[in-house]
Amino acid sequence: MRLDNRDKIQKYVIVGGGTAGWFSAAILVRALLNTGCKIELVESPNVPTIGVGEATIPSIVDTLRYLNIPLPEFIRETNATFKLGIKFSDWHTVGDHYWHQFGFVGGKMDDRPFYQHWLKYVMHGGELDYTDFSPSVAMAKHNKFHIGNPNKPNNLSASTYAFHFDAGLVAKYLTDYCVNNGVIHTKSHVRDVVLDDRGFIKSVISEKGQPIAGDFFIDCSGQHGLLIEKALNVGVENWQQYLPVDRAIAVQSETLSQLPPYTESIAHEHGWRWKIPLQNRTGNGYVYCSEFCDENTAIDALNRHIIGEKLTDPKVLSFVTGKRDKIWFKNCLSVGLSSGFLEPLESTSINLIVKGMMDFVNCIPDKDCNQQTIDEYNRLMDIEYECIRDFLVLHYCTSARQDSEFWRSWQHRSIPDSLQTKLALFRQQGRLFQNELDLFTADSWYAVLEGMKVRPISYDPLIDASDFTKIKQSLPQYIKGLQDSVDLLMTHDEFLAKITH
Ligand SMILES: Cc1cc2nc3c(=O)[nH]c(=O)nc-3n(C[C@H](O)[C@H](O)[C@H](O)COP(=O)(O)OP(=O)(O)OC[C@H]3O[C@@H](n4cnc5c(N)ncnc54)[C@H](O)[C@@H]3O)c2cc1C
Repeated sequence: MRLDNRDKIQKYVIVGGGTAGWFSAAILVRALLNTGCKIELVESPNVPTIGVGEATIPSIVDTLRYLNIPLPEFIRETNATFKLGIKFSDWHTVGDHYWHQFGFVGGKMDDRPFYQHWLKYVMHGGELDYTDFSPSVAMAKHNKFHIGNPNKPNNLSASTYAFHFDAGLVAKYLTDYCVNNGVIHTKSHVRDVVLDDRGFIKSVISEKGQPIAGDFFIDCSGQHGLLIEKALNVGVENWQQYLPVDRAIAVQSETLSQLPPYTESIAHEHGWRWKIPLQNRTGNGYVYCSEFCDENTAIDALNRHIIGEKLTDPKVLSFVTGKRDKIWFKNCLSVGLSSGFLEPLESTSINLIVKGMMDFVNCIPDKDCNQQTIDEYNRLMDIEYECIRDFLVLHYCTSARQDSEFWRSWQHRSIPDSLQTKLALFRQQGRLFQNELDLFTADSWYAVLEGMKVRPISYDPLIDASDFTKIKQSLPQYIKGLQDSVDLLMTHDEFLAKITH
């Protein structure tokens, strides 16, 4: 039995003060409250943060709850708006669009997935879209928003929400949160890393030559990978063959007259474009593949679609899609861009930051960092990354677009075996064999599959046990019920004004 405090981690050092650094510090300081552990965050005054990453998914609401952060204050301080899902335009073919909702679609009927009942309905000539049965989409389409009262469930209760926010303001907000809770904030450029004879990190050396020592190090230095890569030589598994986009142009423009409660993702000749509404401005970006498109062409393509006055010059970002071979190595955990990157199509990176830290908090080791714990952590994180990768690839590989080299390249591009198998199984009777670590629920997969016009050849035969006439009648009534409820709601703008007042 180990009762000696000397074995326990007493000091954590986080390198990097971007979204990853500050979320990591906040989660850690909250988890370690009253344990006497010290946390120091070292941030370079010379290296800017990446400055993008403004759309989230619903797990962010749980994170704020875990951190005891009041929602109205957070919305006010970060210029946030609400997000009910993503509207995808021009992905299957130009002119087509579909929704990827947050929350459930329909409800279980006779204990079978709603999708299967809907499938039988459309196979018999029904015309209502799958996501017409999503409360989130019903609200998003009409620019309405509300947060349901869990004690008074109604037909909108299956919706969930996330935020769009200003990443710089979030880092600022979390800095105050962390410092007020005892995190030491050091502004200093790290110029060196010192290892001990086991290859563990002993300290990082500041610009002025001062060592900052710790027992455990969290690398949040972004694409620099200062600790995990430069000091510990852990490589990256490159997934560019599956997800070839590798550049982005970001421009901020003036705020929209009406704030939509959703992100827009519009497919383009060489990639896709995002539109993210904040209270005080709009984030615009063009994500593209440098093999087919140069920087100026991308900037022109983005500029042509910006509504209103531009507030910033175009910022060019390059990235590689992939995952760190070992996200946790010895006494160093990589979090955020230093741990890998999956392109921002489904806004999953901040979720991976938080998930990575929460999982770490659940298996905090002693100073010697038990190898089995590390291996298990890495195994689980690998699965999470792979599930998200497959979901992202799905958006591209099912497109029917043939109007550019980029889109034609998808005809001969390989897709991961795991996705290939999933699609083959789905194409039979519409069954999804889900990994329990998959961030995206079956309803999310169904929404994108249906949005990209991938339909199975048949439905699950067990559906025939249900009274089809009754179900056929109930479906339009369900939609009418949703519509009636949405009509009574405030607009997204009105809701924001009320909550931030
Ligand atoms: C085009 C694009 C769009 C994106 N959109 C989304 C999105 O919509 N949703 C989402 O969830 N994610 C998105 N992301 C990902 C998101 O931006 C990142 O996951 C998030 O910002 C975390 O970045 P980071 O903190 O790891 O790195 P950074 O923001 O790069 O921060 C790195 C930090 O390390 C510090 N540092 C670097 N070198 C040193 C040094 N030598 N000494 C000390 N400190 C140092 C820097 O000063 C900085 O503070 C997007 C990414 C890209 C590229």
